[in-house]
Amino acid sequence: MSDRLTEIAARAAASADPGACGTCRSRVRDGLPVEHDECAARATLLEAPGHPYYEDLVDLTAEEKAALPARFHTPAFDNLGRPNAWLCRVCWGDGWVTQWPCATAQKHGAEVFAADHLAEDESRKQAAQLEQARSIAVELENENARLSAQVRDMERPAAQAKRDEIRQSYAELASQAEQDRDYEGAFNVQCTLREREEQWKREDEEAVRPVEGGVS
Ligand SMILES: [Zn+2]
Ligand SMILES: [Zn+2]
Repeated sequence: MSDRLTEIAARAAASADPGACGTCRSRVRDGLPVEHDECAARATLLEAPGHPYYEDLVDLTAEEKAALPARFHTPAFDNLGRPNAWLCRVCWGDGWVTQWPCATAQKHGAEVFAADHLAEDESRKQAAQLEQARSIAVELENENARLSAQVRDMERPAAQAKRDEIRQSYAELASQAEQDRDYEGAFNVQCTLREREEQWKREDEEAVRPVEGGVS
């Protein structure tokens, strides 16, 4: 083999086909070449979007099939027929097939397949749209976090007033108990108030946490 051919073979063997055997796929993962030629990555052959269904095709005449848009006249390899052949995916009927390129694919050859660079442009465009959608989602999340913080700020004075009210009534209870020389009762009231204060402190810390964490 010439140096040039060895180089081409080595480059081709660096990527495995999705249908490659397990050995070749794991070799490529480890940075080794595929072992079998037929396991190397190949060109992709896809049907055009909206390709007619089998049920559509059986009902059409040969002329109607030939008149279908050129993009549907793609080849399919028939490895069961004799001899094996590339056949048109739409130009066939009961007991007959047409070798690819059929008359339509031959006549409108340039319209059959998308040029690779156009397909790439399309996938780049989709990736850019996806990126934009992601950044909008992040902005919305940030806005949401900002609004939640704002709502908490607005509610804070009311919550503080409510707490002061509760503190006041506990203080009254405690001083009433002391006047009645119910020192144990007064002590219990103080303890309960201290528990409430601890609880409020925990609530305040929890309310602040999501904003501090921010949006990743
Ligand atoms: Zn293999
Ligand atoms: Zn055809």
